[in-house]
Amino acid sequence: MSRHMIYADHAATTAVTDTALKAMLPHFTTAYGNPSSLYRFAQEGKSDLEMARAQVAACLNAKAEEIYFTSGGTEADNWALRGVAQLMALKGKRTGHIITSAIEHHAVLHTAQYLEKQGWSITYLPVDGDGLVDPAAVETAIRPDTILISVMAANNEIGTIQPIAEIGAIARAHQILFHTDAVQAVGHIPVDVEAWNVDLLSLSGHKFGGPKGIGALYVKKSLRLPALIQGGGQEKGRRSGTENVPGAVGMAAALKEAVEHMPEESARLAALRDKLIAGLEGLPYTRLTGHREKRLPGTASFVFEGVEGEALLLHLDARGICASSGSACSSASLDPSHVLLAIGLPHAVAHGSLRLSLGRDNTQADVDAMLNEIPDVVAYLREMSPVWDRDAEKPTWEL
Ligand SMILES: *Cc1c(COP(=O)(O)O)cnc(C)c1O
Repeated sequence: MSRHMIYADHAATTAVTDTALKAMLPHFTTAYGNPSSLYRFAQEGKSDLEMARAQVAACLNAKAEEIYFTSGGTEADNWALRGVAQLMALKGKRTGHIITSAIEHHAVLHTAQYLEKQGWSITYLPVDGDGLVDPAAVETAIRPDTILISVMAANNEIGTIQPIAEIGAIARAHQILFHTDAVQAVGHIPVDVEAWNVDLLSLSGHKFGGPKGIGALYVKKSLRLPALIQGGGQEKGRRSGTENVPGAVGMAAALKEAVEHMPEESARLAALRDKLIAGLEGLPYTRLTGHREKRLPGTASFVFEGVEGEALLLHLDARGICASSGSACSSASLDPSHVLLAIGLPHAVAHGSLRLSLGRDNTQADVDAMLNEIPDVVAYLREMSPVWDRDAEKPTWEL
């Protein structure tokens, strides 16, 4: 990493922490045995894997046997939705209804669309201008054949935190299974599977200082979720394949560390985030996106009218600032973000989005530098823009 780079894209991924790396290293070099092997040499890997499972569980108020390691958040989301549909099919219900939201990560949204093609009926709940799902709308959407509700805990583009405990209580009252994609929440805000009433919860290591390619699905003990991957019977026969021991150990160490430091670190990040918001939202034709209070501690997100998001990112990159315009997964496409459209922004405005997501290495100096550079780049891009009326100093379209 170059000395002058400011990394403000922690919602896309994070560096592996020193603690996590240190915990992982022996599992690459000395303690590399296959946990399924019977000799004592392999047992260190096995016992560390089970310790990692217990650590992850403790951070969610879950039991160790309710944690299944996966290759990441995407796999956990796929497994939750496909698994519940398959479970219902095994019970003889070949079609049914699933409720989700319009602002889910593509790992949920595209899986829901896949199930829709298989004959399942899906409700994509709208959100309000702050990106909040209304729990009353969840209840209204419930049908006699509803098998699953899946609503994310916190949004990756605008940082809005959903009323998950309220939605969980509704799901429980109607005896409908409830999944939450908590990839942006775990390690950043308190997560409690009991208080939230969730049956399934997805998380991912690389969003909180663990390595990439490891995540977990929490599956409530009473739920007989069918296997996602067939093979040698690892993960109690539900997710076969030789375990990613270094990954699981690194993820658990990072999560334990994140949860231990959460009170002071989230307060520190929220203060930096609020300085970014205060410094940028006053710019002309600029709007904060996402809920003002119910938002992730590290996430500040905006739209700048008359500015093209991709151009903004390239100019910020040239000035040493790594940021994102919404979802990294969709940054290759020119369609505006489904999240920004769902909160009611017109296409033209949604194109001018910027997400700054802060993390452990960010300082007040980084925030000062960003507050110095960003208004300058925005003004420059408007000066160059074909859709900005330079004389009137406003966009040429009417909102
Ligand atoms: C990053 C992310 C995912 C995907 O997790 P991977 O481990 O990268 O597959 C899913 N959901 C949300 C909300 C995310 O932010």
